[in-house]
Amino acid sequence: MADETYISSPVHCDTHPVKHPDGPAVNAAYDARTVQGFWAYLCESCFSEWGIGLGTGKGQRLIIGEKPKPDPQRTRTQIHALLEAGEWGMAEELAGEEGLDKYL
Ligand SMILES: [Zn+2]
Repeated sequence: MADETYISSPVHCDTHPVKHPDGPAVNAAYDARTVQGFWAYLCESCFSEWGIGLGTGKGQRLIIGEKPKPDPQRTRTQIHALLEAGEWGMAEELAGEEGLDKYL
């Protein structure tokens, strides 16, 4: 799984109010597992204090917005480069379900 996750709108840091009960809400930068074991939305400073890292089962960096669709022109260029290098397996993997034919 990726180290990043896409969300449609900003969320607040869950643990910030623990340290700063009277402070303003802070936008989270991570959806991450904490050293205490629970998952929370964390800002940069809370993540550096309580986060255990990024990756599957640990945490993901939050990105606001839509996940970008792969650019077909760019994919085509990459696939042609892979084929020229003799990397058929990687080219097929990059082409995905639609298959290599679409890019040749
Ligand atoms: Zn925080």
